[in-house]
Amino acid sequence: MRYDRSKLTLLRCSNCGSDLSGLSTDVIFYCSECGRCWISGERLSPVSIEFLRIGGSDSIFLPFWKVDASVNILNRVSRKRSSSLVTGVSREFTGRERGLTESDSGSRQVRFIFPAFSTNLVLSTGVRMHRENFLPEKVEDGKRFMVIGGSVGMDDAALLTRAVAVGVEVNRTDYLASVDLEIEVHSAGIYAIGCTPGKNVFRINGSEIGILFAAVNDSDEILKKNHDFSG
Ligand SMILES: [Zn+2]
Repeated sequence: MRYDRSKLTLLRCSNCGSDLSGLSTDVIFYCSECGRCWISGERLSPVSIEFLRIGGSDSIFLPFWKVDASVNILNRVSRKRSSSLVTGVSREFTGRERGLTESDSGSRQVRFIFPAFSTNLVLSTGVRMHRENFLPEKVEDGKRFMVIGGSVGMDDAALLTRAVAVGVEVNRTDYLASVDLEIEVHSAGIYAIGCTPGKNVFRINGSEIGILFAAVNDSDEILKKNHDFSG
């Protein structure tokens, strides 16, 4: 006997009892009947979801993690564009003489947004999204969306937050030599961000940021399920 995995109902919404659909690797499930969002683990746990950049009728909503965290910079050392070569002299040079400057220690509150779907561009996308102001929109009553492909769970999100934070530091305009930072996550939720599929890229609505289909492991299934849902 053959089962079509995609048609098996594995999960139901704990709020309204509707079937939750998703891809086989998904851990984030949005109920398009009642608008609740769940993360599967030992059991379903609720997670907040907000919609952004809703855009036109051809929008596809991809799940992203929105993580609010304190970034504690313990030590950050940057380097001048070039430092003079140290040759033939046998003495210890200070960091400053080698063009190194320590700066920017302290703590700040930062919001990180990065893909909750499987892509090999998660860090670069997270760094680029850090610079943009993403504000949630009010979703009209009765408007139904599909959000699938969320395969990055909460534990991985915490690890990725740290990686994106380091990426943000590396991406500053100075020449980073080293950084030591701690992350304290205060809250995490899902942003469902409207993207318009182009020829070979999911383009985030109202943004220059695009994510290549080729870089998204489940892009074919996401596009197909979305087509079935809205068609
Ligand atoms: Zn529901």
